[in-house]
Amino acid sequence: MDLGSWIARRSAIGPDRPAITYEGRTQTYAEFSDRVDRMAAALAAGGISPGDRVGYLGLNHPMFLTAMFATARAGATFVPLNFRLTGPELAYILGDAGVHTLFADTDLAERVDSIDTDLPVRRRVAVTTAPGWETAEDLIMQHEPLREPYHPASSEPAVIMYTSGTTGRPKGAVLSHGNLFWNNVNALLSFDTVTDDVTYTAAPLFHIGGLNVTTLITLQKGGHVVLAHAFDPQQALADIASHRVTTMFGVPAMFLFMSQVPEFDTADLSSLRYLVCGGAPVPEPLMRRYAERGLKFAQGYGLTETAPLALVMGLDESERKIGAAGNKVLPLSDVRLVDASNTVVPVGEPGEICVRGPQVMVGYWRNPDATASAIDDDGWFHTGDIGREDEDGYIFVVDRVKDMVITGGENVYPAEVESVLYSHSAVAEVAIVGLPDEKWGEAVTAVVALAPDEKVTLEELREFAADQLAAYKLPLRLEFVDALPRNPSGKVLKFQLRNDFG
Ligand code: AMP
Ligand code: MG
Repeated sequence: MDLGSWIARRSAIGPDRPAITYEGRTQTYAEFSDRVDRMAAALAAGGISPGDRVGYLGLNHPMFLTAMFATARAGATFVPLNFRLTGPELAYILGDAGVHTLFADTDLAERVDSIDTDLPVRRRVAVTTAPGWETAEDLIMQHEPLREPYHPASSEPAVIMYTSGTTGRPKGAVLSHGNLFWNNVNALLSFDTVTDDVTYTAAPLFHIGGLNVTTLITLQKGGHVVLAHAFDPQQALADIASHRVTTMFGVPAMFLFMSQVPEFDTADLSSLRYLVCGGAPVPEPLMRRYAERGLKFAQGYGLTETAPLALVMGLDESERKIGAAGNKVLPLSDVRLVDASNTVVPVGEPGEICVRGPQVMVGYWRNPDATASAIDDDGWFHTGDIGREDEDGYIFVVDRVKDMVITGGENVYPAEVESVLYSHSAVAEVAIVGLPDEKWGEAVTAVVALAPDEKVTLEELREFAADQLAAYKLPLRLEFVDALPRNPSGKVLKFQLRNDFG
């Protein structure tokens, strides 16, 4: 089940079938497999041994997948990085993960070169070209395929995906070869992915949704992945028509933007069998808009830490249970709702959603405390989401234990943004909350109590934080209070702020 062997096995079954199409060029499974093995040899020649980490910082590109499978072939662990992060944010993750070899896009290579702290990175490989960096294509050309690929145990780490923590520092969710494999089995038993599928991947591959919902599953089935460098709604509609795309994964914001371009009503979407949406429920108007075009959604609820699927809903259920996250029918994940003392709550009562199964991460990278507080002694992963189950067994996400904001499919942890904004001289107190927003799902909102005789505008705050925080974390709204509402122990009552301003 090791990730490194997936492509080689598929290539043995159907060498001439198309594997990946990107900007008009298609690689067959045989070509892709050969490139993976050449890159694996290049990684090994550059000092990568089993257990080392290889990072990737770039927009979607076939090289992401080549580097990922090659890393697994060499026995190492792949660390995809969010390309929206700033230099300081990247420096922390590269250091924490101990990335030895780093792939990066041209302009992102510049961002890495500008980091002035010590990095563990020993080898720098440009996806295309960057001054002073080796180039990925050269490495593939210069090496013969790796002769003896490493075969890890299923519990060995395949991928580390960083997800922001409540304390403000991101944590690396360690996904093993087994985790990725079992998520795929879970998905294959639930959605009917077939070898003739053509999936359209425009969601970023560095997120678990872009990587392991339709992309890897389609590759494991021997299907065809049409990769977009970045999501563009108009381009997506054109690509779906010209490549006869059959499935596509996205977050609700992506499907919303596609429905808003003028071509939506006339685009040829006849090849699509269904759409897969995750990260947040599909709102009813959006579902209706797609129904007019004859399209239905399969929906999933999950997290990076669960690789990601925990709950799913089929096409008809999605229409029947608007707003639900899914029911408990996935063959390989157990889900339950518990109260603060870890006791299962009665149907209808809110409780924290807990997930158990072979897709639940091994733990957080080099962070046993965080791992112990997330996964209990019985193996239940505590998601931090509050759910409520209805009489038919469908779970609705009603709140979050963590104060996380989800905006356009990206997670924003208030603590991280607050700590930056607190250093602004005009800010006496600040709380970040997510308020409902038609476009982004939630809008990052700063609620500020001003220091005496000070003033600040939204634009000033955004500019002030822009060097340290990725753009999607910057507030979209600014609200003022005299003082933040707090409970007796001093904790800010974010619930109240969401009510007051939402
Ligand atoms: P991430 O850390 O990026 O993997 O995001 C995981 C979080 O996204 C979960 O903890 C949920 O809060 C949210 N989420 C994912 N899928 C759904 C869904 N279908 N409905 C509601 N919330 C969701
Ligand atoms: Mg997370």
